[in-house]
Amino acid sequence: MPELGIDSSKLTIEKTKLPKSSLPTKGLVYGQNFTDHMLIIEWEEGYGWKNPEIKPYSNISLDPSCCALQYSFELFEGMKAYKDSNDSIRLFRPELNMKRMNESAARICLPNFDGNELIKLIIKLVKLEKDFIPKDFGYSLYLRPTMIGTSGGLGPKPPKSAMIYVICSPSSPYYGLKIKPVKLEAIDYASRAWPGGSGNSKLGGNYSPCVLYQRESAKRGFEQILWLNGEDNHISEVGSMNFFIAFKDNKSGKCELVTAGLDGTILDGVIRRSILELTKEKLDKEKWDIVERVCTIQEIIERSEKQEVLEAFGCGTSAIVTPVEGIEYHGKYIIIPTDLNNECGPLTRNITKWITDIQYGNVESNWSVVV
Ligand SMILES: *Cc1c(COP(=O)(O)O)cnc(C)c1O
Repeated sequence: MPELGIDSSKLTIEKTKLPKSSLPTKGLVYGQNFTDHMLIIEWEEGYGWKNPEIKPYSNISLDPSCCALQYSFELFEGMKAYKDSNDSIRLFRPELNMKRMNESAARICLPNFDGNELIKLIIKLVKLEKDFIPKDFGYSLYLRPTMIGTSGGLGPKPPKSAMIYVICSPSSPYYGLKIKPVKLEAIDYASRAWPGGSGNSKLGGNYSPCVLYQRESAKRGFEQILWLNGEDNHISEVGSMNFFIAFKDNKSGKCELVTAGLDGTILDGVIRRSILELTKEKLDKEKWDIVERVCTIQEIIERSEKQEVLEAFGCGTSAIVTPVEGIEYHGKYIIIPTDLNNECGPLTRNITKWITDIQYGNVESNWSVVV
């Protein structure tokens, strides 16, 4: 018998007896507040996916020997639901999150699933929690689909049972309403990801080893780490965001928007991909080249000295775009231009607007799914 796939038509919903009134929009700290309900779908080897359930948000019970806790069989996604001016709820390119979630699962021998069925279930959850989605621009409901291996018994091996769950967290604009650029510390003595590793999967195990360096760097006054890779110290990502930098060639006057290629050490970000596609469509082709290529810290230093660096930013679902105002490397501080208000440069500003306009339905696009 083939294993059963996720069947959204089998969903059961148990509503909480203690509903919270919807959360205030002011002073929401990222990821600290959760809504009343969660979605859970269990899987067992040989059987497949069991009936999906929406239940009150609560603790889950696990065998202390289970593989999620012992060997980090855990992966997650980050996506958001937005409220548009008609009070309709929208998701942004959710099929890309489902594809990546399946790829992360395959990487650590967790089961695959039908992404369309999980999207249907997420839509049911989001509709149930709609009063928790702050309406104002910049606010959203952050969704955290998670998969864990639940089978017990020591020894790292493919999990025999697993669980998908989805929790929802109402969120404010990541950096408040004023855009605030960040200072980066470029680090070459530690790596977030390496060739043949798992940096291109969204696995919990990729993140905990980075927090130590993040904390050390924060003590030195930097908001994020710029992860350098390889003998040539090329840029991979910034914190847990993808990284973009824009140059202008003094001789030809041509501009270039650069990000690292997907070489196995780079997370295939939905926002990264959207920025590549939007800039190719919208920027003047005579003037701009949009390129996925190796960019070393040395290139940034040299081109900064020639005043050829235009702008740099990190990007990801949480903050969309995070402008960079400077990069420290081996005691040298490279200033990255922003604007007179010290917010961000014009390209960063345009990109942010192109993306958020689609997410909030101000501009119609098939990237925005009205649910
Ligand atoms: C999640 C994540 C990103 C951003 O991905 P988006 O899909 O754009 O949110 C980038 N880098 C890392 C390491 C990540 O975990």
